[in-house]
Amino acid sequence: MSESAEDRFETLAVHAGATPDPATGAVVPAIQPSTTFKQDAVGAPRQGFEYARSDNPTRRALEATIAALEGGSHGLAFASGLAATQNLLYLLDPGDRILMTDDAYGGTWRLAQQVMARYGVKTDAVDLRDLDVVDRALRSRPSARMVWIETPTNPLLKVVDIAGVSRLAASAGALTVVDNTFATPFLQRPLDLGADVVLHSATKYLGGHSDVVSGLVVTRSAQIAERLRFTQNAAGAVPSPFDCWLLMRGIRTLAVRMERACAGAARIAEWLTTRADVERVYYPGLPHHPQRDLVERQMRLPGAIVSFQIRGGGQAAHRFAAATRLFTLAESLGAVESLIEVPAAMTHLSVADTRLAVPPDLIRLSVGIEHVDDLVADLAHAFEAA
Ligand SMILES: *Cc1c(COP(=O)(O)O)cnc(C)c1O
Repeated sequence: MSESAEDRFETLAVHAGATPDPATGAVVPAIQPSTTFKQDAVGAPRQGFEYARSDNPTRRALEATIAALEGGSHGLAFASGLAATQNLLYLLDPGDRILMTDDAYGGTWRLAQQVMARYGVKTDAVDLRDLDVVDRALRSRPSARMVWIETPTNPLLKVVDIAGVSRLAASAGALTVVDNTFATPFLQRPLDLGADVVLHSATKYLGGHSDVVSGLVVTRSAQIAERLRFTQNAAGAVPSPFDCWLLMRGIRTLAVRMERACAGAARIAEWLTTRADVERVYYPGLPHHPQRDLVERQMRLPGAIVSFQIRGGGQAAHRFAAATRLFTLAESLGAVESLIEVPAAMTHLSVADTRLAVPPDLIRLSVGIEHVDDLVADLAHAFEAA
């Protein structure tokens, strides 16, 4: 590996992982599609590779890359963000309880409520912004084994104090997991703040080009890593070598993409607050965001997702989202192209009528790296059309 401990994030993003290849000098990691590896004697594989589900050179390079970027010592790659989530939930036993952000990604909540509940794992939605509420929830019985943080949350962009929650969880004997999909390690590094495990839907910013579905997990604990490595192989939801390679390609430009997207999002959020047809804007970088101080302490930049409530209700939101030209109406987020969606009818449909339901007039923007003046003009036009 060519990175050193002193390298700054932007440098690490370009150089972390197995490059240049020590065998060939190639400056990008090789895509190694082989499913099996020659053993020199029975039970003596070269460099630890036996069978590609268990481990393979391309995935190993990606896992080293994300571990370096999150400041962890063990990285694990999965076939999707939810496959990574499932693998973390294998740490739990029947009777265990999870405390989860009450504004969690809908798919995470669905997995906990509709799948894990059948195996005796209970999940409670908690407002993790309030440390007194967290403290009380940790003390109530049965005691929580895991606290699941998302910050900023999707789609209301609530911000959770990672250091504060991690401290309370550790003293109660619970593991803290942070879904760092929205922030990426460029904006915030949860392990430095005391979290035990970081998770990514790498489908979003880490891939960054809307062309790969994948999930990543990082920890500093050898004990947790050993258990996760076991279930990664035992359950087998791993990404292909090509997907791993695409992710490494995306990660190399993470810092520049995030800088541009965050700058655009800040401009757009501010502009939206000036519009009479907007009821309320949600963006961690706005002066009226309720956790502005925490955002400044915890995040390098306030992110590139902006949500807002449009006047005129759900119908106006639907019309607006169908009227943009550059903002493509689609689920997902975190790529170079800007996207728009109506969470209540799309990404958050699975949590309708639950505590996690979102307002019907809410619109979520994933700001890409296009010129911000073009993006603002596109939105201005859509307001007229809606
Ligand atoms: C998309 C997403 C997930 C799920 O990841 P997939 O790659 O779609 O399985 C989890 N958490 C957050 C915050 C997400 O945005």
